[in-house]
Order: sequence, then C-alpha cells, then structure tokens
Amino acid sequence: MSARRPFIAGNWKMNLDHLQGIALVQKLAWTLKDASFDPKAVEVAVFPPFTDLRSVQTLVDAERFTVGLGAQDLSPHDSGAYTGDVSGAFLKALDCAYVIVGHSERRQGHGETDEVVNAKVLAAVRHGLVPVICVGETEEELERHGTSAVPVRQTAAALAGVPSGTPVVIAYEPVWAIGTGKVATPETAQEVCAAIRGAVAEALGADDAAATRILYGGSVKSGNIAGFMRKPDVDGALVGGASLDPVEFAGIARFPD
Ligand code: PEP
Repeated sequence: MSARRPFIAGNWKMNLDHLQGIALVQKLAWTLKDASFDPKAVEVAVFPPFTDLRSVQTLVDAERFTVGLGAQDLSPHDSGAYTGDVSGAFLKALDCAYVIVGHSERRQGHGETDEVVNAKVLAAVRHGLVPVICVGETEEELERHGTSAVPVRQTAAALAGVPSGTPVVIAYEPVWAIGTGKVATPETAQEVCAAIRGAVAEALGADDAAATRILYGGSVKSGNIAGFMRKPDVDGALVGGASLDPVEFAGIARFPD
C-alpha cells in the first residue's frame, strides 16, 4: 500500500432513485460506523445519478457522514443552450468534490472520443471539481496492443492542457472486466497503473505523478480488493455493481482488515 490516501469510489450508474439513494447512504454510513471505520485512513465517495445528488448532499451535510459525493458525468460547456447537459458549476454548487469523466460506458455508448473526454476534464478543472478519469482497453485492444498502450494514450490525451498542480484521479478500468465478473490480476493492475503514473509524470510532472491516486476498476468485490491494495501503484478502486450493496461496499472500504 502506498502513502497516498486510499480512495474507494462507488459508481451507482443509472441505478437507485433519490429515496433509494438516501437509504443506501444511511446504511453505508451506519455500517462503516459500526465497523469503527477510520475516514482519515481511507476516503469513500459515492457517485449517484444527477437526480439523486441534492438528496444525498442534504443527508451527508445534515448527518456529517464521512462519505464524499461525486457525479457521473458533466458537460464540456459551462452554461447555455445545451439541452440535457449538466454544468460543472451546478455540480460544484451541490458540493460535489468529484466527477467521473470518460467512463467506458460513455466512450462506447455515447461516442465520447479522447477529445471530448479532454474537454470534460478541462471543464471539471475550471469548476474546481476533481475529475476521476477512466481509461482502459477493450478485449480486442488488449489482443492487438497489449495491456498498457491504450490506457497510457487515453491518460495523455485526457490531461492535455491541464496545469501542473491540478488534483486528478485516474481509474484504470479494463473494459472487459466491467460488470463481467472477470477481474484483472493484481499484477496486471500494478503494471498498468505504474505505466499510467508514468503518463501522468509526462503530462503534469513527477511531483504530481507521485501525489496522484490511481484506482483499479472492474468487478471489484470485498473478496478480491485486498490483492489490489497490496500493490504499490494501486491506490484504491472504482466500484460499480458492488457499490449498490452498502454492506458489500463497506467491506471493500475496509480492505485492510
Ligand atoms: C464501473 O462501472 O466503473 C465498474 C468498475 O463496474 P463493476 O464494478 O460492476 O465492474
């Protein structure tokens, strides 16, 4: 495990309405508290759908829960005639600290290119949000280019024009491992996360690379998280399916036990 504060992030995707979201966060907070979870040692954040953000924010503020908040996407634009888009300014006003950018479900299902992802990263930075930038290869790209080439290219493209000293999080999510039950080995995750750290160093400098948290994502569960967290360049996990079960998600956040 590295000196960087581990980060366990739960991407709810298009699941849970605002009432279900409140219930999940309450149960998550209680479960973590019962387990004497130390939020100073590990950071936990949830990424609900846009329509849940206000409810979850109110709950987190009122109860002073130690669960952070992020959104799953943002517009590359700041305001104006962009029907259906959500500005980073609005997310910041709801106390979001983070925003996921470039998830493979948006790259594949919504045609988001490296250029679009870069524009969204720059929009997040403009609004004081920390982008959680998702990179990762498909099964076909893995066969054609090997493990690190695509994530390294996507990282470099996403960080173009980002000034040094800007906090960012990178999530290495092999597309073939997302929601499939197939998991990269901790050794492969380490190899790719180290290569991604090299790309961050090229883009932002060595100090930023040393401070940047790089997560693994793809079928992470409480039963397999520990192996990843033992690797020096893996600083946490971006969790999809398993983040919808608060007890299981709390189990992932308590990986050092
Ligand atoms: C994700 O959607 O970012 C993800 C990693 O999903 P899952 O954990 O379900 O594979």
